[in-house]
Formats: sequence, structure tokens, C-alpha cells
Amino acid sequence: MFINHEFIQNTLEKAKYATKEQIGEVLERAKSRKGLSYEDIAILLQMEDKVQLKEMYKLAGEIKESIYGKRVVVFAPLYVSDYCVNDCVYCGYQRCNKFTRRKLTQEEVASEVEILESMGHKRLALELGEDPVNAPIEYVLECLDTIYKTQKDNGSIRRVNVNIAATTVEEYKMLKEAGIGTYILFQETYHKETYEKMHPKCLKSSYEYHLTAFDRAMEAGIDDVGAGALFGLADPKFEVLALMMHNEHLEEKYGVGFHTISVPRLKPAGGVSLENFPNLVDDNMFKKIVAVLRIAVPFTGLILSTRESAKMRKELLKYGVSQVSAGSSTGVGGYKSRQEGKESSQFKTSDERSPMDILKELLDDGYIPSYCTACYRKGRTGERFMSMAKAGTIQYVCGPNALMTLMEFAVDYGDKELYKKAKETIEREAENINREDIKTLLKNNLKKIENGERDFYL
Ligand code: SF4
Ligand code: SF4
Repeated sequence: MFINHEFIQNTLEKAKYATKEQIGEVLERAKSRKGLSYEDIAILLQMEDKVQLKEMYKLAGEIKESIYGKRVVVFAPLYVSDYCVNDCVYCGYQRCNKFTRRKLTQEEVASEVEILESMGHKRLALELGEDPVNAPIEYVLECLDTIYKTQKDNGSIRRVNVNIAATTVEEYKMLKEAGIGTYILFQETYHKETYEKMHPKCLKSSYEYHLTAFDRAMEAGIDDVGAGALFGLADPKFEVLALMMHNEHLEEKYGVGFHTISVPRLKPAGGVSLENFPNLVDDNMFKKIVAVLRIAVPFTGLILSTRESAKMRKELLKYGVSQVSAGSSTGVGGYKSRQEGKESSQFKTSDERSPMDILKELLDDGYIPSYCTACYRKGRTGERFMSMAKAGTIQYVCGPNALMTLMEFAVDYGDKELYKKAKETIEREAENINREDIKTLLKNNLKKIENGERDFYL
């Protein structure tokens, strides 16, 4: 198997003895942006010196800015079924937790989507537990069809990323045909022994089958895959090195690695307390993880959810995170329930602000909130996307697309305050675009959006 546990453990052990000078050399190598070895990554993960840490955060911030500019992609999760045959020890949906399970009917899916559209969302992550009887692949396909078809006023969902359990090449082919964006699957933990302890006697028990899911997805033609580890299960430093190994395996075998990495941290869930998890990640370690990932895989999007507080999200946006969820509900039918004043969730969220409030803060902090979904609709996926990202040409489309989708949001969903903030940002940033042809096209499109036309993208 391509996650070499012994190598990771030895590398982490050696890194403990790195001197200040050696750490300085790694930081210098990181600045030259020629990629880092596993040994370098291990050294960065264990350093504690405040001055050097500051240097690393600054570098991560510079790398982020040079590749992603000021745009921050915004999305929301949509939970459609909490049926689950697995017994993941850390999850409130585990089979042995007794509560009334449900899956949404297609009418209910449409109703959730309408609410999400009225919040301004264009990009969703479809989430459900694993249950081949109650929620088979056909159900997922039906949901996708409903989501793409549901439109309210100017609202439409333009990209659905899908997070379903590890499955077969045949089922991945079906997902591909249904027009998914990224296929998301978290390994949860790359540490085999911990994995087996966390997933006792259930469909998800096989470490190998779970680990090779992206291989099967790629064989089925899905070339955008989103990885993640649930930080807090095993040693977080181990998880980061293993993520890098997994990424390298995909790059070597299929020519393209992870499109995104998510960094969820273990949170309390219904029927699950955190007392029995000795590897919980504190804020300092968590910040280090995000900065190191940013430096190690600069072209891979980093996703942060509303599990984290507004304060933590604000800080991590500075040096790593490029996508955030907003206004999320993590329960099945949760958006409708929330509208009705009830709440249901898979785990506790910490940032409960509306997308409007989140957007206002992003604008105040100098970011451009983006609802862009252009790449997958233009066929810029997999290797094609990565080659543009690595050549730095992706910014010519990311920036204008962010501004156009922000204008749509401001006109369709913004209050006066948001509209004003967005307009100022759009005018300022449009002037900063340094290709005249793109600037002219953008300005024309922005006018058209103000006049009621929609869905322009480059
Ligand atoms: Fe089921 Fe996923 Fe929760 Fe595991 S993590 S119990 S597979 S919903
Ligand atoms: Fe993402 Fe592509 Fe849009 Fe840039 S242009 S924000 S990479 S979808």
C-alpha cells in the first residue's frame, strides 16, 4: 500500500531533532517554491520557535496571495440522508446511535435547494451516510438531477461536489455522467491501526478499500478529487505526511493529485464525546497544519467548514484556506428546519452567521467572495486545471469570475450595505486587472449583470 507507515514514523522521529539552523534551511527552500520533501514537511510541522513560526505563516500567506489572489470561494453542504450502516466511532450518524433516520424526498431536496438558492449559493457539497439499501447510487443520481433542475428566480446551483462512501468504478462512472464537480472522500485517518479501531465491523472497515477509492474514481474518469483527514483521530503530523503521500501516488499514477484538501477537526456530535480521543488538535497545531499544507501543495484548494469559529476562519484565510462554507446546516432537511426555527445537525457548527454576514466580513478584510463554478463547466478539470494553476494563468479567469459572481450576489441577494461594499470592491479590483482585453470584457459583463443578465464566466 502506498502509505508507508514506517517511513512516516521514522521521518517524524528524525524531525524532532532538527536544529534551528536546519529549520531555517527548510524555510529558505520553501521560499524558493520548488517543493518540499517529506523530511522538510515533518520539520515544519514540529517546529515551535515563535520567530520561525511567524516566518512560516508569512510565507504561507504570500504563497496563497500569489496563486489565489484575493478570491475566496464560498459553498454550502446539503445533507440528504442520515441512514448509515457504518459504525464510525466519532460520528453522530453511526449505526448504533438510535434516532429516527430519514432521507429527503425529491420534493424535499428541491425545497432545500430553493432555500440555498435564496441565500445566494451556486456551489453545493452533497452529503449522505452510507446505506446501499436506503440510499443507493440511484438515489444520489436522482438528488443530483433534482438539484441541477431546481431554479428559483435567478437562483441556480451550478456545481455539485459529491461526498459519498467509497464505491466501485461502475458507480463512479455514473457519478461522472451525472455531471458532478469534485468527488470528495475523507480518509478520516491514514493511520491503519487507528482507522480499524474507528471503523469496527462495518462496510467502511477496510482501510485498503477506502484508501484506493480515488484510484477507482480516476479509473472511472473523475479527475477532480477532494481529500481530507479528520484531524483529532491520530497524530496530526502523521496525517499530513500521509496526505502528501496519497497525493503523490495519484500524481504519479494518474498525472494529477488532489484538487482540494479539507481540514475538518473532530467536534462533539450527538452521542459522541471527545474524552476518548487522545489526539485532539489544539489551535496552534491546527494553524501550523494549514500553513504547512499551503506551502507543500500550493495549487491544491484548502477547504474550511463552519465547524471552525469565525475567528479561526478569519485567521486561516490569511495563510492558507481558499474555500469556506457559509450559512451551513449539517442536518438532513436542516435548511427547512432552520427556517421553521428548529435545528438538526450531524455535528456542532461554530460559525452560524448567514452568507450575507460572512460576505460582508470577507469584503471588509479585502477578499473577493466568489461563487465561481467556471472550471468544471469549461472542462478545466484534472491535469488541464493543474497545468493552468501551475503556469499562473488561472488567475486571469479566477479574478474576473469572482467579480462577476459577486456582482450577481450583490444585485440578487445583497442588502444596501452589502451592495455598496461589493460595488466598491468590484470597481477597484476590475481596475487592477492587467490584461486589457479581459478588463474590457469584464466591465461589459458587469454592466449586463446589473441590467438583469446572468451567468457569465471565463
Ligand atoms: Fe456513516 Fe459517514 Fe458517519 Fe461514518 S462518518 S457513521 S459513514 S455518516
Ligand atoms: Fe475555481 Fe476555476 Fe472559478 Fe478559479 S475559475 S474560482 S479555479 S472554478
